[in-house]
Amino acid sequence: MPLDSARAIVVAVRRGETSAVEVCRTALSRIAAVNPALNAFHTISDERALAQAAALDDRRDEWDRLPLLGVPVALKDNLCTRGLKTTAGSRILEHYVPPYDATAVHRLVAAGAVVVGKTNCDEFAMGSSTENSAFGPTRNPWAPGRTPGGSSGGSAAAVAARMVPLALGSDTGGSIRQPAALCGVVGLKPTYGRVSRYGLLAFASSLDQIGPFATSVADAAVALQVMAGPDPRDATCAAAPVGDFVGALNGRVGGVKIGVPRALVSEEAGVDPEIRTTFEQSIDTLRQLGAEIVDVALPHSAHAIPVYYLVATAEASSNLARYDGVRYGYRAPDAAALGEMYDRTRDAGFGPEVKRRILLGTYVLSAGYYDAYYLKAQQVRTLIRRDYEIALDAVDLIAMPTSPTPAFGLGERMDDPLQMYLADVFTVAANLAGLPSISIPCGFTEAWLPCSLQLTGRAMDEATVLRVADAFERATTFARERPNPL
Ligand code: GLN
Repeated sequence: MPLDSARAIVVAVRRGETSAVEVCRTALSRIAAVNPALNAFHTISDERALAQAAALDDRRDEWDRLPLLGVPVALKDNLCTRGLKTTAGSRILEHYVPPYDATAVHRLVAAGAVVVGKTNCDEFAMGSSTENSAFGPTRNPWAPGRTPGGSSGGSAAAVAARMVPLALGSDTGGSIRQPAALCGVVGLKPTYGRVSRYGLLAFASSLDQIGPFATSVADAAVALQVMAGPDPRDATCAAAPVGDFVGALNGRVGGVKIGVPRALVSEEAGVDPEIRTTFEQSIDTLRQLGAEIVDVALPHSAHAIPVYYLVATAEASSNLARYDGVRYGYRAPDAAALGEMYDRTRDAGFGPEVKRRILLGTYVLSAGYYDAYYLKAQQVRTLIRRDYEIALDAVDLIAMPTSPTPAFGLGERMDDPLQMYLADVFTVAANLAGLPSISIPCGFTEAWLPCSLQLTGRAMDEATVLRVADAFERATTFARERPNPL
């Protein structure tokens, strides 16, 4: 059974053409063969996965009610899994075993998914290349000398290399969409509040969302369908009814208005020429499918990156205060006093990017600078959100490339954090505005690196985002390409 499609696996298991155990074994042997070269997985939960699959095979009377029956899934290692190590890519949580499952994980498993492992990520999801992991970088399956993007690079690489058909990531400023783009797979960031954040190790609470990686839009829709909806354990999880995301995929694009912010994707804006070419071709395809393409202005976009890095670091500095050596994870030995224990624990436990962000965040929240930085950033965040509201009054979706460049080389941006931060120039606004946004494969560079299209929609309107993305995927072949020699 190929690990290409979650829906095909469900059908095959239901028909008795294969079993959940057999599919699980296929995934585990694929991981054993491919993962050593890519380092996409940090933990492989083989015994547990096989036991879970065997239990599913026994529950025949429930099969029709399990939309992810027997589907092997990988989880970014910042999602809590009961009894299974959850490190967030950090030394400080290297041996941390949570006593509970994240709601999103719980719902996937209840739908029949089989967790085969936890994937590598930038430490506490801070980064765009997965190089900030304390456990070594992940490599891009299309070009092992390049990064898979980040911070959910392990999940993206796991799906791109067909070790699993489905994986979860988290997206605070682009960490699902950007690695999906660099690895040539589908990545969806739902509306803020669509999926419960309970059990997601918090980075920036007003921006974080959990979402799926998949090889097709339809599989991403199934995963969202399973995870979405209110959760009494997360007060920010929306009460809005969950629509029929899968049923929305009717292939129709006629009458849909798609806005293109031309100024942002120009050559002067520093967008790679091959990315621009594939983007323009994608817009033509959407037009041919019946979409009406119009220009939109997002006048405050130039501020999105600075605003994001003020808000995200401020929230991170507060969220990460809990790692004090007392309550979770690592504690430095031999400290003479409490203060020294905190210092030594955090000094040894956190890597350089996390420390940089805690310092920045503490600074922008400090009494003397709060008004100048944090407060100002919140005000500009409102303006950015308003830009999108105005644009999305006139159009149904906004199209941009997901990433301004294709996958970049390992090590290339590690000495230049600002350059790394620019990887998210097209993605952060959807987080600041809380909107649903998807990245789908839309072409290749001459060196055969994936290029991607990002579609951002109105709050709670994942249905339109998914419908148009699915129609684009049906009309093109890019999502079916696989990295060589896999
Ligand atoms: N690359 C961005 C950052 O470093 C976004 C990360 C994310 O979405 N988790 O903050």
